[in-house]
Order: sequence, then structure tokens, then C-alpha cells
Amino acid sequence: MNSNETYFMNFAKCKDSKNPNFFFADDVIGTNNAIRYCQDCPVKIPCGQYAMNNNIIYGVWGGLSIRARAKLKREQKLNQIA
Ligand code: SF4
Repeated sequence: MNSNETYFMNFAKCKDSKNPNFFFADDVIGTNNAIRYCQDCPVKIPCGQYAMNNNIIYGVWGGLSIRARAKLKREQKLNQIA
């Protein structure tokens, strides 16, 4: 793991979370709760970028669900083609 790429984790709002499963809910309500929690995290952007750069297919990262990240990736690919 590239330490520059994960440096943001030192400042994560969830750093001391007692329940890491909170970000890996398998239902809509749990996922939305995690998305809401991330909204005021100071490292929301690099967290989401990290998940996208590393093709992480589980959980909420940077306030983005896996579906939201997949949609963003598709849009980025389309923008590269256009
Ligand atoms: S954006 Fe969410 S998952 Fe990412 S570091 Fe912040 S609180 Fe944790």
C-alpha cells in the first residue's frame, strides 16, 4: 500500500470508529447512514479517490456507495472517449 495514497486515513472522521462494519452495510438504510456520516469528513475526497483508484468493490468510501463509484467510473470513461 502506497503511504502517500493512504495518508488521508490519519485525518479520517471514522479513524477511531468502534464499528468498521458500519461502512459495509448490505442494505439501503445502512448504506445511506454511512453516506450521511461521511458528508462532513475532512478527507472525503481523497477517501473516495482511493476507493476508485484501487477498484474497491465493497463499502462506502468518501460518501460514495459502490454503485455511485461505478457510475462515476462509467462517466469518467465516457468523458475520456468524448
Ligand atoms: S469519507 Fe467516510 S469512509 Fe472515508 S475516511 Fe471519511 S468518514 Fe471514513
